[in-house]
Amino acid sequence: MLLEKINFVDLKKQYASIKDEMDSAVRDVIDKTRFIMGENISRFQEEFSGFCQVKHSVGTSSGTSALQIALTACGIKNGDEIIVPVNTFIATAEAVTLAGAKVKFADVDDKTYNIDIEKTKELINPKTKAIIPVHLYGQPADMKPILELAEEHDIKVIGDACQAHASEYNGKGIATFGDASCFSFFPGKNLGAYGDAGAIATNDCEISEKAAMILNHGRKKGDKYIHTVEGSNQRLDEIQAAVLRVKLRYLDDWTKKRIAHAKLYNELIEGATTPFEASYSKHVYHLYVIRTKKRDGLQKHLNDNGIFTGIHYPVPLHLQPAYGYLKKVEGSFPVAERLSKEILSLPMFPELTREEIERVAECTNDFLKNEN
Ligand SMILES: *Cc1c(COP(=O)(O)O)cnc(C)c1O
Repeated sequence: MLLEKINFVDLKKQYASIKDEMDSAVRDVIDKTRFIMGENISRFQEEFSGFCQVKHSVGTSSGTSALQIALTACGIKNGDEIIVPVNTFIATAEAVTLAGAKVKFADVDDKTYNIDIEKTKELINPKTKAIIPVHLYGQPADMKPILELAEEHDIKVIGDACQAHASEYNGKGIATFGDASCFSFFPGKNLGAYGDAGAIATNDCEISEKAAMILNHGRKKGDKYIHTVEGSNQRLDEIQAAVLRVKLRYLDDWTKKRIAHAKLYNELIEGATTPFEASYSKHVYHLYVIRTKKRDGLQKHLNDNGIFTGIHYPVPLHLQPAYGYLKKVEGSFPVAERLSKEILSLPMFPELTREEIERVAECTNDFLKNEN
């Protein structure tokens, strides 16, 4: 019997479940032909702020733009050093360079896979101007010691929440911590647009106004022909804002489903390390990542059985050709290096069925048992 494939992410199922609403929202933008900075942008920004429990949010053209602009809006400039975990998507580090600053990598914690606080401490010097904790896979970084460290050294904290929409730290929305938080709405993210999009969420009015100005050619609100600073064009697009407004209404429900799927995986999987959930965290499972020394064999076995997986990330950033200039040899970040060889992201999206999760777990267990 040929088994049906289980995708890593399946956006078609989600679209089918909201098709009428989505089609009408997109058609409405096209009917009105207001494609730039229309009412969907302002409404989405209000609705997303409410969702994040913050005062302001500013739509951007991507998560990468959000990070870059947030850094600049926080006053980061040439020569400043910014601390970034080494196990993350490259965009976290790219944004630092794009903002004119220098990337300083920190190793990650062996249990949560998020930035290691002690290692972060060791990197702080007078040039350090910000830390970017990444809430990797949907689990908040440990914000309390990070914020204490930042306060002690008078540096900024810009959260990379690109995988962590709706996550909470000690019962409060993740975006309520630090100076600003950045989100990606890349289609496969927990809240995904139908193209590239992102946002900055903050309680700081000045950061929000500066960010809005930078991403719209340096215009202050209401200005058309006056450019107060040299900015750029990194605006959220009106059609994407309309798409996001529809999907935002379902995000709580979709998040609950992700959490339930993770719970079921946790119960069923044997012989691999399942995700560690810190006591302070509401983990929203953008990715469900297990750990085993038999990773490569397991990935192949699952693939042979029609189950598609991912690795986030197979090459830690310091070993990427792009960061060769930092001259960090293998062995510089032992925890992240070990992880990169042992982690595997299993299928995770709200529309997964119980049967599919059972099949993934069974197939995983079969392989791990027989390999012993
Ligand atoms: C997706 C992602 C980004 C970048 O977002 P884009 O919208 O693709 O630019 C940044 N950081 C992390 C951790 C991400 O997962």
